[in-house]
Amino acid sequence: MSARTGTDGLRVWIDQDLCTGDGLCVQYAPEVFEFDIDGLAYVKDPGGELLQSPGARTGVPARLRLEVIDAAKECPGDCIHVVRAADDVEIAGPDAG
Ligand code: SF4
Repeated sequence: MSARTGTDGLRVWIDQDLCTGDGLCVQYAPEVFEFDIDGLAYVKDPGGELLQSPGARTGVPARLRLEVIDAAKECPGDCIHVVRAADDVEIAGPDAG
């Protein structure tokens, strides 16, 4: 494991087709999740830009790991996917083991 694993170890994406627009994720981690004008949640890059291409992933800051994982577990749409950057295995979300 590299020293950067804490920062770069997880990535997150949203399946907007299933997003209900309730905003739970934005409450948990506004640095990572944000609404667009379509009323759906998107992930943001480290500069705060919304990533709107389907399946776009962003890195999960180490200090927000728990918040992002909790958001994925509690997302009413079951549409937040948290994956390991190294092998893309989902560790929280609808496809997590
Ligand atoms: S918690 Fe899930 S359903 Fe709710 S706004 Fe976020 S991505 Fe959409």
